[in-house]
Amino acid sequence: MRGDAPSLPARAASWRAVALVWVGIGLTAAGLAGFGAYTTLTGRERALATAGATAQNLARVLENHTQRSVDAVELLLRLVAASGEHREAALPGPDRFDPVLAEVLRERGYVAATSVLCAETGRRVFGHGPPRQIAGDLDLDAFRAHRKAGASVRVGKPFFDADTGHWSAAVSRVYPRSASKGAPLLAVAHVDLSQLQRFYASIDVGRGGSIVLWRADGLLLTRAPYNGAHIGRVYPGAALFKELARAPNGLYRAASATDGTRRIVAYRQLPGTDLVTVAALSEEDSLTAWAAEMRSTLAILALVLLALVAFGALVAREMRRRAEAEARATQKSALLEATLETMDQGLLMVDQETTVQVCNRRAQELLELPAELLARRPSFDEVIRYQFARDEFAKQDTSFRDWVESGGFEQTHHVYERERPNGTVLEVRTVPFAGGGAVRTYTDITARKRAEKRISHIARHDALTDLPNRVFFRERLEQALAGMRRRGDGVALLCLDLDHFKGVNDTLGHPIGDALLKAVAQRIRAELREEDTVARLGGDEFAILQNGTGQPAAGAALAHRLVASLGQPYLLEGHPINVGASIGIAVVTEAAGDADTLLRNADLALYRAKEDGRGTYRFFEPAMDAAVQARRSLELDLREALVRGEFVLHYQPFVDLLRGEVVGFEALVRWNHPTRGLISPAEFVPVAEETRLIVPLGDWILRQACQDAVGWPDGIRVAVNISAAQFRGEGLGAGVLSALAQAGLAPERLELEITETVLMQNTEASLKALHRLRGAGVRIAMDDFGTGYSSLSYLRSFPFDKIKIDRSFVRELTHNAECRAIVRAITSLGQSLSISTIAEGVETREQLDAVRAEGCTEVQGYLFSPPVPIEEARRLAPRRRARAA
Ligand code: C2E
Ligand code: CA
Ligand code: CA
Repeated sequence: MRGDAPSLPARAASWRAVALVWVGIGLTAAGLAGFGAYTTLTGRERALATAGATAQNLARVLENHTQRSVDAVELLLRLVAASGEHREAALPGPDRFDPVLAEVLRERGYVAATSVLCAETGRRVFGHGPPRQIAGDLDLDAFRAHRKAGASVRVGKPFFDADTGHWSAAVSRVYPRSASKGAPLLAVAHVDLSQLQRFYASIDVGRGGSIVLWRADGLLLTRAPYNGAHIGRVYPGAALFKELARAPNGLYRAASATDGTRRIVAYRQLPGTDLVTVAALSEEDSLTAWAAEMRSTLAILALVLLALVAFGALVAREMRRRAEAEARATQKSALLEATLETMDQGLLMVDQETTVQVCNRRAQELLELPAELLARRPSFDEVIRYQFARDEFAKQDTSFRDWVESGGFEQTHHVYERERPNGTVLEVRTVPFAGGGAVRTYTDITARKRAEKRISHIARHDALTDLPNRVFFRERLEQALAGMRRRGDGVALLCLDLDHFKGVNDTLGHPIGDALLKAVAQRIRAELREEDTVARLGGDEFAILQNGTGQPAAGAALAHRLVASLGQPYLLEGHPINVGASIGIAVVTEAAGDADTLLRNADLALYRAKEDGRGTYRFFEPAMDAAVQARRSLELDLREALVRGEFVLHYQPFVDLLRGEVVGFEALVRWNHPTRGLISPAEFVPVAEETRLIVPLGDWILRQACQDAVGWPDGIRVAVNISAAQFRGEGLGAGVLSALAQAGLAPERLELEITETVLMQNTEASLKALHRLRGAGVRIAMDDFGTGYSSLSYLRSFPFDKIKIDRSFVRELTHNAECRAIVRAITSLGQSLSISTIAEGVETREQLDAVRAEGCTEVQGYLFSPPVPIEEARRLAPRRRARAA
C-alpha cells in the first residue's frame, strides 16, 4: 500500500458517515427553523391581537368620554330648547336668555354660542352668544341635516375659528313638542372641539397610532395627533365605513385612508348618534416589541444553528477520520492477508505459547504441511513432530536435528539454509518478537543455489573439456601441498603437452582440434584414480596432480601409462590422427616446494622431454633450472652480439656424388661469445627466433654469405638457412635480391634452405616470396626432411630444387629397414620430379655407401668436413677433390 491515501471503498464509507451527520444536523436545523417560524408567526399574531385588544379598550374609553361629552352637550341643548320654549311665549331677544343657563354656559366654556330654531321653518327663536356666530351657517347646516336624519344629536361640519384658533362644530338636536304647543324646536350649540382634541391628544397611542372622531357619513371631526388639513373633510371611501356598514363596533386592520400607514383599528359608534370613535394603533409600532424579541430569538437561533453547523463539521470530520481509519485498517488487513497468501515466501508465525498462529499457503507448500494439521492451530512442537515423522531433516546432520528437536525457535535473529528430502533448498530466516513468539520465513533458493553452483563451476572449470582450470588446479595443488606436510607423503605434478597438436589444428581445423582435446581429456581421466586431479591449463597443456606415497615411482608409472595411452591413434570425424604427449614431472616428498616452484619445475621437465624427442617423460632435475637461467642470460647477450659483430659464419661443404667434387658450402652461423667462446646455433638460433632477432641476424648472414661466395670459383654454390620467422616480414624476397646484387653474386649460386614450418605458416605469402626468388634463379631446398610431419604434400606444394634428408635418417639408415624404405621413397620421388636429394650428417663410409645405394645425389657430413671458417673453406673449395672421388 502506498502512502495513507484511503482507497475508494474507504472514502465511500467515510462519506456515508459524514452524510449521516449532516442529515442529522439538517433535520435539527429544519426543526429549529420551523420552531422559529412558528414562534415568529404566532408571536406576531399574539402581538397584533394584544394591540387589537388595546385598541378596542381605547375605543371604548373614547366612546365613554365622547358619550359623556355628547350627553353634557345634549343636556345643554335640552336646557336651551326648554329655555327657548319658554321664551317663545315671552319676548324674544338675547338679553332675555335665561340667566342661569347663561351662567352654566359660561362656566362650561366650550359652548361659544347657542340658538334655538323652529325645526320646520328654520326660524330663529332666539340666540345666545356672539352675534357673528349665532347668525352663521352652522345653524342652517344643522337645520338641513336634521331634515334628513331625524331626532338624534347631530354634529355639523367643523369650522375653524380664526379668532380663537380652535375648531368648532355645531351640535344640534330636534326637540319635539306636543302639537298644542307648536312645531318642534331645533337646539344648536357651537361647541369648541379643542377640549375633545386635547383629551384625545393626551392618550398615548404610540408611534403611528391615531384617535379619530368620525361622523358616520365619513366626515372627520377631530383627530389626534392633530392635523388641521384633515379636519372637516369627508372620506367616505375609508375602510372604516365598509366595516361600519357591517357592525357598529369592530376591529380591523387596514392601510390608512389619510396617511397610508397600516393600522389596527378599533371603532365604536356612539349609540343613538352618528358619531364613531376610532382608536388606531400602528401595526409597526405594535410589533416593535415583538420584532425586537423576534430579532433576538432569530439571533439566538442563528447562533444555535451556527454552533450546530460547527459541531456538525467537527463531528463529520472526526467521523470521516474514524471511518477512513477504519476502512484503511480493514483494507490493510485485507491487503496483508492477500499478500500473505500470494507472496513467494513461506511465512510461519508463532505466539508466546509457540502456537502456530499464521502459516501461509506458500509455507504449507514449501514444507508440505497438511491443511488439517494447521487447521487445528497446532503448537510448533506438533509441527516438528510431524516433520520428524516424515523424515523431513534426513539431509541434515545430527547436530541440526538435535537443535530442531530441542525447540528450533531461538530468541535470536538467525538464518540458515536447509535441503529438503526432495532436493529443494530453503533459506529459513527467523525474527523473534520482543514479547515472545517469532516469525519465520521460508524462501525457496534452489534455483539460486543451482545457479551459484553453476557459476562457481564455470569459474573453476575449462569450458571445452569441463576439466578443472588453472585457478581450480592451483587451489587443489596448494591443498595437496598443505595436506602433504600434514600426512608426510608425496605429491607428483605432471605437466603434459601434446606433440604436434598445432599441426592438427592448422590442417584439420579447430572443430577437430577441439574434439581431439576432449578425447585426450577422456583418456587422461581414464588413467587416473579418484583422488587425482587433472586440469587443462590452456591450449594443449594439461596438468595432473597425483597424491600419495610411492613417489617418484608412482609418478613415473602414471606418466608411462599416459604416454602410451595418448600415443594411440584417434579417429575423429573420419580422420585418423596421431599425436603423442610429452610429460614433465616434478615431485615433492619433503616439506620443501611451493606451488609456483613445482609448476615451473614440471614445465622445465616437460621442455626437456620435448627436446629429447617428444613422446616421452622427464623428471625435473636441478640442472634444468640452471639451463633456463643460462638461456635467459643468453637472450640478453644476444641483443648486444649483433651490434658488437660477434657472429661469424662457418662453411660446410657438400659433395656431388656423381661428379665426386665439392659443389657448394652451407653457411652455418656461430656466435663468438666474449666469455663463453663459440656458441652453437642450436643453442641461440631458437632464442633469436623467439625474440625476432633472427630477422636482422638472418639479413646479416645472407649478405655475409653472398659476399663470401663471390670469392669462390664459378659454379661453387652457397647454401643459406632461412628461418620460418624470417618469412613473416614482407621484405625477404627483396632482402635476398638486394644481398645478391650488393655482393654481385649470380642468383643461381645461392641456395636457400627452408623447413616445412615455412610452408605451414602463412603459406600464401611465403609461397609468393619463394616463387619470386625461384623465378629470379635462386635455388630453394627443403631442409631437415623426415623430421616433423615429413608430409610429401609439402614437397608437391612448391617446386623445390633440392631435398635435404635429415641426418636422423642417415643415422638409422644402416640398421633400420623402414628408414631405408623411406629414404628410397624420397630419392625416387626426387628423381621423378628432377629434384636433387642430399643426405646430411654422413659420418661414416657405411652411411655414405648406404645413401649412395638409395639414390641420393649429394652428401654432406663430417665424413667430408665439419663446418670450417671461411679461410679454410676457401682452401677446400676449388682445388681439393672430394674424398669420394
Ligand atoms: P642444419 O641446417 O641441419 O645444419 C647442419 C647441422 O649439422 C650443423 O650444425 C652441422 O655442424 C651439423 N653437421 C654437419 N655434418 C654433421 C655430421 O656428420 N654429423 C653430425 N652429428 N652433425 C653434422 P650446426 O652448425 O650446429 O647448426 C645447427 C642448426 O642451426 C642447423 O641445422 C640450422 O638449423 C641452424 N643454423 C645454423 N646456421 C644457421 C644460419 O645461418 N641461419 C639459420 N637460420 N639457421 C642456422
Ligand atoms: Ca641446413
Ligand atoms: Ca639440416
